[in-house]
Amino acid sequence: MTLETTLPASDDLGALVQKAVDSVPFDPGITRFPRPVLESLGQAGVLRRRWESAGTGAGDVLFGVRMGEELAGRAPAGVAIGVSLHTETVLSMLHRFGASDYLAGLRDRALDGLAVGCIAASEPRGGSDLSAVSCLAVPTATGWSISGRKKYVSLGAVADFAIVLCRIATAAGVPTDRHATIAVPLERATIVHEHEKLGTHALDTVVVDFEQVEVDRDATVGRAGLGVLNLNYGLSFERLAIAAQVAGGCATAVALAVEHAERREQFGRRLREHQYIAFRLAELKAETEVLSSAVRTIAGDLMSGPLDRVLMSRIASVKLCAARAGERLISEAMQVFGGPGYLPRETPFGQFWNDIRVSRIGAGTDEMMLAIITDSLRGDPELYDRLVSISQ
Ligand SMILES: Cc1cc2nc3c(=O)[nH]c(=O)nc-3n(C[C@H](O)[C@H](O)[C@H](O)COP(=O)(O)OP(=O)(O)OC[C@H]3O[C@@H](n4cnc5c(N)ncnc54)[C@H](O)[C@@H]3O)c2cc1C
Repeated sequence: MTLETTLPASDDLGALVQKAVDSVPFDPGITRFPRPVLESLGQAGVLRRRWESAGTGAGDVLFGVRMGEELAGRAPAGVAIGVSLHTETVLSMLHRFGASDYLAGLRDRALDGLAVGCIAASEPRGGSDLSAVSCLAVPTATGWSISGRKKYVSLGAVADFAIVLCRIATAAGVPTDRHATIAVPLERATIVHEHEKLGTHALDTVVVDFEQVEVDRDATVGRAGLGVLNLNYGLSFERLAIAAQVAGGCATAVALAVEHAERREQFGRRLREHQYIAFRLAELKAETEVLSSAVRTIAGDLMSGPLDRVLMSRIASVKLCAARAGERLISEAMQVFGGPGYLPRETPFGQFWNDIRVSRIGAGTDEMMLAIITDSLRGDPELYDRLVSISQ
């Protein structure tokens, strides 16, 4: 059953995100994603507004990236990532591929924040190369029996279900080279342990074992055999969300650095009156603006056209550049604080610094983004012939 909600206005997004973040006390020792944040966003109609208001297959992507930026400015990075895993990765797949009644029901509950989903793809043996995964889906009379280990499942300690990337086996259990994405209730899986991480502590990331977990055929997300493609569809939404979060996080860091440069005096003048610092802040502001604009442009394009190879490559480009720039921008903003930037009890920069690094790894590493972009590199023979004439 869905909640009776009126979809919120776009202008209300900031206040609703703040209300969701305020619904939980964030103590520094937090190690698990706080579910009430997603419940609050779901109950306020924010997730339905993201997916059901624009009349496009991709929903209101612009609203989605704004949500990522807002969260990055108002909550620990782990919360922003957890929300986007559910709202962008999982819900994009359930909207695109959730044809069965079972998946439609799951999607409804996920939209209301009543069921939380996560992604279980990476394994000890298959990370960048997802086609190498060995978690097996053996066909049964009614569906699948799933067995294997997933090494990194973010949200896994608190979620209700995971979309699991599996290698399809024959009925006799012999692995094939085909894959499937399958929604699996996590109550039927075993959480082996939670990883200790450098940052993003407000997001749990766990090792999960599946031991002959039986699910019905209608839990198959998209066509069996196209599992890696299906997952890549969802990962594109996650990559754009990560770029949006980096843009939002950098905007927060720059705003803090500008304010500090207003307040702090050295050599008889405010820091921002030293031209080198003012120019550095201006550079940081300019790069953050460009990042944010690129994210919004691509979000608009994702609403108006299909997610084809070209758009996937453009999303990979913005994710790559955001992740690399984010690391540098946070460091430069931290520099404006001098010593306090390095003191985690005095400023949040140590946390920003530890959190930002995962954006170069999660949803595909920098190198995998480069591989995607390389696939779409095309020369221009007409332009070449017109402008280039190399003597022999
Ligand atoms: C905090 C955290 C949360 C995560 N959450 C999830 C999650 O929720 N769900 C999930 O499924 N996964 C998750 N992951 C896994 C993440 O997506 C993988 O770690 C990532 O894709 C890289 O895989 P890997 O660790 O196996 O590295 P590897 O694939 O072993 O790569 C190691 C290095 O080699 C490079 N490399 C690999 N192949 C090539 C190549 N052909 N050419 C050039 N360079 C190459 C990589 O870019 C990387 O730098 C998470 C990881 C972390 C750290």
